[in-house]
Amino acid sequence: MLMKEILVRKKPIMICPECHAEYLDHINECGDCKISLVDACLIDLPIPEMTWSSLPPFEGKIFADMTAELLDQHSIPYYLKMDWTSSALNIGATGFPGQIIRIFVPEEYLDKATGLTTAVIGESE
Ligand SMILES: [Zn+2]
Repeated sequence: MLMKEILVRKKPIMICPECHAEYLDHINECGDCKISLVDACLIDLPIPEMTWSSLPPFEGKIFADMTAELLDQHSIPYYLKMDWTSSALNIGATGFPGQIIRIFVPEEYLDKATGLTTAVIGESE
């Protein structure tokens, strides 16, 4: 399935994790806070220092919600990002929105979370 990648930034921008000021990518330190800048691509992840891994993408929010609930129950931190298939505009007639939801979990939880995901999809079919 084709997916439109909405996370990619063509031009790297650095952001101060403290005051969120944006800098060009040749600057390494915030002039105000005197701390190292981080890549703007990472700033919207809740904990940029962690390595986040993506579960297989979900089609439709229901599966994602079910999985999120399971992750909650197992105390696994997670992070949702919405995406859209590039063909979403052509699907209108069926009413299927073509929405893709990706769930990111910390790398060390990936195996467990993947197992839970499989359970969700298995139960629903
Ligand atoms: Zn700053």
